[in-house]
Amino acid sequence: MRRVYFDHSATSRVLPEVFEAMAPFYTERFGNASSLHSFGREARASMEHARKHLAALINADPGEIVFTSGGTEADNLAIKGVAAYKGRAKGHILTTCIEHHAVLESCAHLGRLGFEVTELPISKDGLVDAAEAEAAMRDDTVLVSVMAANNEIGTIQPIMEIGAAARSRGIPFHTDAVQAIGKMDIDVKRDNIDLLSLSAHKFHGPKGIGALYVRKGTKIEPQIHGGGHERGMRSSTENVPGIVGLGKAAEIARRDFVPTTAAMRDLRDRIVKEVPELVPRAYLNGHRTHRLVNNVNFRFDFIEGEALMLQLDMKGVAVSTGSACSTGSLEPSHVLMALGLTHEQAHGNLRLTLGRENTYEDVDHFLAVLPGIVSRLREISPFSEARSMGGEGGSCVQ
Ligand code: PLP
Repeated sequence: MRRVYFDHSATSRVLPEVFEAMAPFYTERFGNASSLHSFGREARASMEHARKHLAALINADPGEIVFTSGGTEADNLAIKGVAAYKGRAKGHILTTCIEHHAVLESCAHLGRLGFEVTELPISKDGLVDAAEAEAAMRDDTVLVSVMAANNEIGTIQPIMEIGAAARSRGIPFHTDAVQAIGKMDIDVKRDNIDLLSLSAHKFHGPKGIGALYVRKGTKIEPQIHGGGHERGMRSSTENVPGIVGLGKAAEIARRDFVPTTAAMRDLRDRIVKEVPELVPRAYLNGHRTHRLVNNVNFRFDFIEGEALMLQLDMKGVAVSTGSACSTGSLEPSHVLMALGLTHEQAHGNLRLTLGRENTYEDVDHFLAVLPGIVSRLREISPFSEARSMGGEGGSCVQ
């Protein structure tokens, strides 16, 4: 059976080139980057080489990159690190209601410590309003955190405008770019970004390694104390193989940006166009154009997202759903609810996230199996309206 992976926002395959670059750092070149002998010096040189490649990808200076264990740690460091600078215990933090839990929970933690947190709402197509963000900035705002692109619905936020507004008020601006890297052109200087989180495994690097970009001069308190690694910003012996893998993945993402993003956009647009032609009452979630090149997110009336996902899995197609929370709760995801969907609407959710290795044939396979699965699931739906719909096409995209 053909196996198709359409879940690249969950994680992506380590590219062979990345794996080959990393392998020697587990075996022959295993030195500790802090050691002064040749093994250590070799590890450090490779780490600094990786730092340069990563910095180039986002137009940063290498000295502004702090390696972390992933996107979650980068978000925690940015938010808690800025908020708690020099023992500060209160102030206002501005974020959005559709951030990843790594951001929302970091803010909630600070809320319990005495900070005040404002979560900006989104429009019905998933966009944060830059003017509304600007109006919500206050004299006591210590940080603004708005994601570059959403992990569920792929909506691309106006970070350049929000960053400019924050900059003009002297407020540090953080963006979670975990889903944006490799799919969007990000330039920390042009986009007025002070802090940026990223994670290697979302763009064909290894798991367990990420980074926080910290613009020179940004006041931030380390959150992991110890031997003073990463210029004191993040102690712990560096994950040299991971860092080398991250550097290689960044180099490849930059090198191949134009053809890979064009190919993903083509596949995305084909799915967005053809699904509603093949399946009645299928609606696109998120913005039509301000959207990651690799993100497709639909809701299907009268269907459970989990059932759809499992049936697709049986046909070899790996997708995901935000219909019930990944933590196992029965609540649909906070992002779908923020779009203003009812519980029933949010339950019929399906997310496809494409990768550079997906092909037209992968999409053919998905489009061939989807209508049959949907009509079978609707036949067993408790809604009589669903049972009478049959499987014929009919476009109904919002
Ligand atoms: N931020 C966003 C937008 C994400 O999508 C994810 C992972 O799904 C993270 C942060 C966390 O990244 P990591 O898995 O590297 O901790």
